[in-house]
Amino acid sequence: TAHNEELVMQQEELERMLAETEKMKNRLLELDRLKSELVSTVSHELRTPLASILGFTELMMKRSLGEEKQKKYLTTIHQEALRLTNLVNDFLDLQRMESGAFICSFERVDPKLLIERVIEAVSHTAHHHHFQLVDERSQKWLNGDEERLIQVFTNLISNAVKFSPKGGMIAVHLENDAHNMIINVKDEGLGIPAAEIPHLFKKFHRIDNSDRRKIGGTGLGLAICKEIIEAHGGEIMISSEYGKGSVFSIVLPLPAEGQQADHKTEAN
Ligand code: ADP
Repeated sequence: TAHNEELVMQQEELERMLAETEKMKNRLLELDRLKSELVSTVSHELRTPLASILGFTELMMKRSLGEEKQKKYLTTIHQEALRLTNLVNDFLDLQRMESGAFICSFERVDPKLLIERVIEAVSHTAHHHHFQLVDERSQKWLNGDEERLIQVFTNLISNAVKFSPKGGMIAVHLENDAHNMIINVKDEGLGIPAAEIPHLFKKFHRIDNSDRRKIGGTGLGLAICKEIIEAHGGEIMISSEYGKGSVFSIVLPLPAEGQQADHKTEAN
């Protein structure tokens, strides 16, 4: 009867609302868990360099040290303070990006010039590595936020240096298809175990083994790269053979036809 039908409909509506509430509850619990995890990770990350700064300053206050020791301790203190600054800056950057308060300002960018600049800057502190840039593009321009893209490639190229042995070659390859610019950063370094790859873009995720523990870093770099590339409508991917090396691939959409042609004559 009509009355029965109405009851069934009410029942269905109630069940739908209950399922919705359950989903909402789980989402809130998950957010709460993420928040606690974040607070404990951040405090842990801050505590380590702070402990080292406190330890060394106390040592220096208690004892009078020779000039050489003094210099050595001051260098450590300075490095740890720098690490804290980088950590806080990276962390704020990432928060801003994740909350959507970060806006890319797009301009015409030649990725080759940009990468040459990055290689030039990184190679100043990487005297034992070799760099190669292979350009096979047919399209020159990208629409991008130059400073942010510099940040991405600085991070990828310095990671390639950090995680590969002296004498290693770091090769950047530029090409495009009809729709995308594809930029590969390849190293002959430690490589990444397959099981780690899906986690690498998470905040503070660092592969923890003895090879790597002594290599400094915040574990925020790749999370930041991913946010920046996604804000450009692009994608970042990793392929790696553990023990042999890694390739980080950035795929960025090309500007629409007309834009390419318009800008071609304006090269600077
Ligand atoms: P950080 O380098 O500050 O630790 P990232 O987010 O840039 O943080 O990288 C996260 C982790 O990914 C690194 O700690 C490292 O274990 C691994 N990794 C990143 N780039 C490479 C690479 N080129 N070769 C091998 N491992 C890498």
